[in-house]
Amino acid sequence: MKILDSFRIVLVEPQHPGNIGAAARAMKAMGLSNLVLVAPRSFPHADATARAAGADDVLQRAQSVNSLAQAVADCQLVIGASARPRRLNWQNMNPRAAAEEASAVAYKMNGQTALVFGRERSGLTNGELDICHRHLMIPANPDYASLNLAAAVQVVCYELRMAALGTKAGAETYMGEGDTLARTEDIEGFYTHLKDVLVAGEFLDPEQPKLLMRRLRRLFNRTQLESTEVNILRGILTALDPRKQAYSNPKMSLKGSD
Ligand code: SAH
Repeated sequence: MKILDSFRIVLVEPQHPGNIGAAARAMKAMGLSNLVLVAPRSFPHADATARAAGADDVLQRAQSVNSLAQAVADCQLVIGASARPRRLNWQNMNPRAAAEEASAVAYKMNGQTALVFGRERSGLTNGELDICHRHLMIPANPDYASLNLAAAVQVVCYELRMAALGTKAGAETYMGEGDTLARTEDIEGFYTHLKDVLVAGEFLDPEQPKLLMRRLRRLFNRTQLESTEVNILRGILTALDPRKQAYSNPKMSLKGSD
């Protein structure tokens, strides 16, 4: 399952259907699609569809439930977003830290995380915040800390996306014992070697290289090459190098001067 699919945006009693649409748009732009509405005042609604601007699929899939407890029942982690600190002893996370924890839960435990947002006018009640395992606060201007609902959803979804991308490409990727990732320098050495052999084998025309090397770089850069793998690839290149016989048997030459 994709990490982004393990995140759920929950809007508690949204008053303005336009904000539901704008939140759906904010989600879709960041690759999220699970939206749950707790007792929305008016939904479905033309204003929601209009503001969704093409994210109607997210609206169509949105579930409506009666309570926050129902909305988050099957989640492993529940994070409530609040514009103002309510309790002195409750630590407020920023969106980045929250997104990292949500990604780790998804990645390590296949767990679901709900990100919960409150009503436009009054936010989340204390009782609702108590259901949340963590509280999230966007560190906005302390004199004007309350963002529009959909704008807050956008900021959080952006961080979720960044954390999810980082989790996949980053250090948490499984590595077998003794494996070490190849250094950039060694990978560059492989690319140089590859190009050299491709030219020697007349697969690559140095006068007309087109996009071949960039495409090959893109291919290999998608994986996390380990040092041993780079060594194997270079060994293969050496073995298949058409000039090899000329090297190993100096009497023979590719130019055929004999
Ligand atoms: N007047 C309300 C703010 C409601 S804004 C209040 O004082 O609580 C609607 C929702 O957007 C909030 O419930 C919250 O979930 C989210 N939100 C807005 N600004 C935020 C901020 N700075 N940090 C975290 N969430 C925020």
